[in-house]
Amino acid sequence: SAPRTGRRNFTKSHKLDNVLYDVRGPVVQQAERMEDEGTHVLKLNLGNPAPFGFRTPDEVVYDMAHALPHTEGYSDSKGLYSARKAIMQYAQLKHIPNVSIDGIYTGNGVSELINLSMSALLDNGDEVLVPSPDYPLWTACVTLAGGTAVHYVCDEQSEWYPDIDDIRRKITDRTKAIVLINPNNPTGAVYPREVLEQIVQVAREHQLIIFSDEIYDRLVMDGYEHVSIASLAPDLFCVTFSGLSKSHMIAGYRIGWMILSGNKRLASDYIEGLNMLTNMRICSNVPAQSIVQTALGGHQSVNDYIVPGGRIYEQREYIYEALNSIPGITAVKPKAAFYIFPKIDTKKFNITDDVQFAVDLLNNEKILIVQGSGFNWQQPDHFRVVYLPRVEVLKDAIGKMTRFFSTYRQN
Ligand code: PLP
Repeated sequence: SAPRTGRRNFTKSHKLDNVLYDVRGPVVQQAERMEDEGTHVLKLNLGNPAPFGFRTPDEVVYDMAHALPHTEGYSDSKGLYSARKAIMQYAQLKHIPNVSIDGIYTGNGVSELINLSMSALLDNGDEVLVPSPDYPLWTACVTLAGGTAVHYVCDEQSEWYPDIDDIRRKITDRTKAIVLINPNNPTGAVYPREVLEQIVQVAREHQLIIFSDEIYDRLVMDGYEHVSIASLAPDLFCVTFSGLSKSHMIAGYRIGWMILSGNKRLASDYIEGLNMLTNMRICSNVPAQSIVQTALGGHQSVNDYIVPGGRIYEQREYIYEALNSIPGITAVKPKAAFYIFPKIDTKKFNITDDVQFAVDLLNNEKILIVQGSGFNWQQPDHFRVVYLPRVEVLKDAIGKMTRFFSTYRQN
């Protein structure tokens, strides 16, 4: 054939047309430009504990060092037997029914498994119920897989619990599954058993798969019990996700897992698809798998952070009070994880575009937050603060935010 003439433009795949992942999006790029030019930016945008002085338990680091000479090769596609056995025992402690080693898959973080689980399931136009606000990777992966993320509302007036009537209203013939993020990012909510039972009932009536992202299940404060929804649904097919990024402050090591449970016969064909994609990526990072057993057993050092006097607990106490003391800002108290999702009085500040608001806060006060729309929240009236920095740093941030909001777009 004749050689091509002229310039060829390489365009991105149309599969990405509606994919949104603003946690690391354009506002962040603006912050990076500012830093390149020598301006310090206070980053309250990423749930990555290590840079804020949270240390990985020594035991975990020593364990990985010890295992390194023996983890040079690929592992089984689903993961090392010892890791999966430890995860199975963890699932038993959480009363998740009908779990076998075979139904446990390790991944390069929960992220890889969210992507894989949606890719293996969805045909074009299939619908998945996803919370709003959500951790946006869920919506992004549903969309990338050709599906449609249909957002159900979590209700700020009710502690950010899922609105069951809204879930019911949004079910159609094409709804295949419902996603829960519990404990929740970005709201910090923890769902009580009664709410979970209602969701199970809806899933039962409409034969939905339940996907439950529980990566924050070991970071629950105030004595609230974390219930795995899979423990309430032995007759349904459930997939439960968790990992060590947050509880063990090793987001960089990349280790997470998913657990299939309940009525697996309903999903034997889907499971074949999961296995195929799992085989295709060969296996997840093996050194990181080697520490799962140690990490999940024995003393959980994260517990020291989430009790009174502990860093995450005290930072939450501070940020919750401090944000609520800014005129025009209100926030529900988070019960878990390290995020708070305050509401902005948009009338007072005349805000119609929350990306613009995030850019203005960045330019004026050198503070980086993520606007609510980055979490598929439909109104421009929320933003997420990561309260991982120490209280002194958070105080500085709150001082600047108070100054910012005292004049922002007010006549
Ligand atoms: N799920 C939720 C709710 C998260 O907040 C995150 C990270 O912020 C992830 C999953 C991804 O975690 P990882 O890929 O590090 O396991």
